[in-house]
Formats: sequence, structure tokens, C-alpha cells
Amino acid sequence: MRGAVIYAPGDIRFEERPDPTIVAPADAIIRIAATCVCGSDLWPYRGIEPVRRPSPMGHEYAGIVEEAGREVRSVKPGDFVIGSFMASDGTCEICKAGYQSRCAHVEFAGAGGAQAEYLRVPLADGTLVATHGQPDPGLIPSLLAASDVLGTGWFGAVAADVRPGKTVAVVGDGAVGLLAVLAARELGAERIIAMSRHEPRQKLALEFGATDIVTERGDEGVARIKEMTGGYGAHSVIEAVGTQESMMQAIRSARPGGHVGYVGVAHGVQLPGEELFFAEVHLLGGPAPVRRFLPDLISRIENRSIDPGKVFDLTLPLDQAAEGYRAMDERRAIKTLLWP
Ligand SMILES: [Zn+2]
Repeated sequence: MRGAVIYAPGDIRFEERPDPTIVAPADAIIRIAATCVCGSDLWPYRGIEPVRRPSPMGHEYAGIVEEAGREVRSVKPGDFVIGSFMASDGTCEICKAGYQSRCAHVEFAGAGGAQAEYLRVPLADGTLVATHGQPDPGLIPSLLAASDVLGTGWFGAVAADVRPGKTVAVVGDGAVGLLAVLAARELGAERIIAMSRHEPRQKLALEFGATDIVTERGDEGVARIKEMTGGYGAHSVIEAVGTQESMMQAIRSARPGGHVGYVGVAHGVQLPGEELFFAEVHLLGGPAPVRRFLPDLISRIENRSIDPGKVFDLTLPLDQAAEGYRAMDERRAIKTLLWP
């Protein structure tokens, strides 16, 4: 098969790779129907995360089960499936509590590289969810979005305790931030403030349900949120960037007793203990337990009540993966979908 491999920052190659095979009896092999480039793929691409050896890329996938190991019960060859980027057994105490991304037997589902024609998914029963029959091709981008960015934005909203009638602020206007806006709307928030300085992203945020746009960042952004909420701050803040500035902007935008859901992969974030102590806010975040939300998200997509696939504003054939990275790196695209 062929797939995308990173050799060095800025160096993505699409090349011949060995076909994945069943290694453990709980594995499944998926024929990829659609995959995409993640904001987090840009960390190694930009050299912020080291690239020590050539590594297969991609951890977002939707596709058809080609082969299932002998222990796999919940999916079978021919099923159209979506899975989380973290493989989980679904049976340990952590999974049962809904934190499958930190399963006691967790494996990175993208280890084999989902930006390829085939992918081996470990722990298939606890990781994959089948759609109700073969999906309409028009739904595939939205189903693919559920595999990471939608599931992650949704977890951000749940972790931030978004509820009907509440005011929500979203820090970050990448695909996850935009889909956190959609999640907040679906969860009934009354006011959703998207913090964004980029016009096409503001437009999509408004389509997904944002009621207000704040263009200021850092302390000025915090001051705007306070001003808009009677001086209190937001009930719920979703952090979807992962930098020191965005994390502090999120914590300072929340009211005392409020909730921050942080889902941007943290890079060099250090929290000041004393400020945190007196902020008196709830903090919950981490790699999203996407698997917890998948059955619900798939149903909402199949009913056409949500259309998260709109975050893909660039679609390319898989063999042009390198251009997909470049477009996102240069902010010409919010998110690139790749068709094998
Ligand atoms: Zn588990």
C-alpha cells in the first residue's frame, strides 16, 4: 500500500509501505475511505516536536473493515466504521468510567499511520463503532470529523460543563475550536463567544452557532469576555490551542466556580499555582475520550442534525498529502481532507 511518512520538519513523502496485517487477535484492518491532516500533525511538521526517524502520519480515519482478528465481535468485514485516535479495550475501569483515551491498555490507533490506504486498528471492539449501514458518500467528511476534531471539541464542551442557558467562550479557531462551538450549541448553550481573528473562521463559527465573535487575544480578550458577562466571566470556557497564552486566556475568562475544558495538546504550558488557587475554577482536559461520544455523534450525523464536515475547506487526493500539510501550515486551509 501507499501512505504518508514524515522524514523531517516540512518533509512529508507519500511512498510505498508494507500492508498492515493482523498482529493481535483483537486487531482489525481498515480500508481507509477518508482521512485528514490534524492540527497536531503540524507540531512535528513545524519542528516543534522532534522527528527522530521516518514516521507514518495520520490518526483520523473512517473506512471499511477489511479483516478482523479472531477475537473481534462488534464489527465484521464490510462494516463502515469510525474509530478514535486512541485504541481502548472498553472493559477496564477507566474505559467504563468514560475515559477511554486513558484506558489501562491504551494504544495509539494512529501508530501505523492513517494517512494511508490501510490501517491496523488495535483493540477493535473497544475502539471502532460501525455506522447503521453504508453511509451516503456525502456524510463521509462529517463521519471522519467525528474520529477526532468533532469528538475532541465535544469533549471540550462536556469538560467545560456546557449546559442550557449558559455562556460559553471558545479559545482557538482551528477545527477543534470551531467544532467546540457546534458542540456547545448542540448542548444548549445560550451564548457562545468564539475568539477568532480570521474572517473565514469567524464565518464558520457563526454557521456552527456562535452568537458573538471576539477578536482580541490575551488580557484584552479576557477583558472583553468580562465586559460581555457583567464582569463575571464565562460559565464555560473551551481551550483548543495548547499554548501558555491560550491556557491562561481560558482560565482568566472563566468566572469563579466556572469550568475550563482544555483540549489543545499542551506545549510548554506551566500553570501558576497561586493564580490557579485564587481563580477557583474547575479544570478538566486531556486527550479526548472520543469513543465515549462516537455512537451519539454518528447518530446525529446520520440524522443530518449536525454537519461537522464543513471544517474541511480543502480536499485532495491522498497522494498529495504534502500539499495538504503545506496549506494548513500556511493557514490557507483550516483542515485538509484526503481521499485515497
Ligand atoms: Zn480500558
